[in-house]
Amino acid sequence: MDFLSHLLWAYVLFHSQPWAELGMVFCLLPDLFWAIPLIGLRIRHLRKKIPYVEENDIQTRALYRASHSLVTLAVAFLVSYFFFGVNAASGIGAGWLLHIIMDVGTHKGGIVNGIRLFHPFSQWHIPAPIWWREQMRKRPWIYAVNLGLAAIVYYAFG
Ligand SMILES: [Zn+2]
Repeated sequence: MDFLSHLLWAYVLFHSQPWAELGMVFCLLPDLFWAIPLIGLRIRHLRKKIPYVEENDIQTRALYRASHSLVTLAVAFLVSYFFFGVNAASGIGAGWLLHIIMDVGTHKGGIVNGIRLFHPFSQWHIPAPIWWREQMRKRPWIYAVNLGLAAIVYYAFG
């Protein structure tokens, strides 16, 4: 899903937790691990006046798969639990897990073509029913449904 949706849903679901801010940050972080190097790559291409081609995304694919893996999440959870305790580990684990759950069903296409949940040990992935970016282009009203659902959940369970 998109950046704003990750942040919004993390707020809706975690706002009453003592680790809410950490959960929101770590619900965004998996995409930053991948997007920042990708932006750097695109800027380098612009400076050299080399046309950007989609194959260059392959260079950031490994970062994407690592940051969207339950294996990486488990390592981050255990390390944060060991060094910072249960509160920090809960925020980090919950935020990161929510990000992965949101992406699993919405990443049918793109350079990653599905979230590899057990990367680097396995490349198996659940076939996602939709590609969020494509759906927002074809059916922009889907974003309004997304916002509406977030509002309903917030007011029903907040
Ligand atoms: Zn993501």
